[in-house]
Amino acid sequence: MHDTPPQDWPESVWRDYVNRVRAGKRLAPAAWPNNSKAALALSFDCDHETFEMGGGRHAVGRLGWGEFGRRVGVPRILDTLRKHDAQASFFIPAVSALIDPDEPRRIADAGHEIGVHGWIHEPNATLTETEERDLLNRSRDTLETLSGQRPVGHRAAHWDLSDNTIRLVAQAGFAYDSSMMADDSCYELICEAAPTGLVEVPVDWVRDDAVYLLFNRTPDPSHPDGGRSSANFLARI
Ligand SMILES: [Zn+2]
Repeated sequence: MHDTPPQDWPESVWRDYVNRVRAGKRLAPAAWPNNSKAALALSFDCDHETFEMGGGRHAVGRLGWGEFGRRVGVPRILDTLRKHDAQASFFIPAVSALIDPDEPRRIADAGHEIGVHGWIHEPNATLTETEERDLLNRSRDTLETLSGQRPVGHRAAHWDLSDNTIRLVAQAGFAYDSSMMADDSCYELICEAAPTGLVEVPVDWVRDDAVYLLFNRTPDPSHPDGGRSSANFLARI
């Protein structure tokens, strides 16, 4: 972080910030198989109890709220996917998988993809590079051990990326990331002016049910808008 106000940043500083990760060429095919008009990617994040713990909290009520996803949400999703013969991607924090290893096994056995989603849903921007690399590798190995499937996809918890995240994900040999919003179509990721080989499968808050279904009973009263803004919402989840 540069320690002068942004309006005083020299060009070298703001150019350095924006060039850390940039969108490269679009990677969506010119036509979809079977002359389909569109392709639909379904993905689910099995945060469960780690949604609370990744923020350093452990309120019993909110852990129970997270357990709902494990007991009710994921089984219903798997039922629905089976009925429609549809495959999906499930991004799972390693601790969430360790709490009930049967879940990643059932997901993988049903033919769905397992992807990395942090160790305990920790925000990457709070980590040192060494910590982040260690957690990324441990999370991937844990999911592979529990599910029998080696993850090739990565989605940052909270979609929170440090300056190092994309480079570390590329160095670890993942095929794709799914945490960014620079396009509404798949694109290549450029890191510090060099191609990473990573494909970005972009996300967006308006296509995430969290913004419609999450409720924050205790917004931060110190926030200028009393805690009603989306920025405050994101900071608290
Ligand atoms: Zn998540």
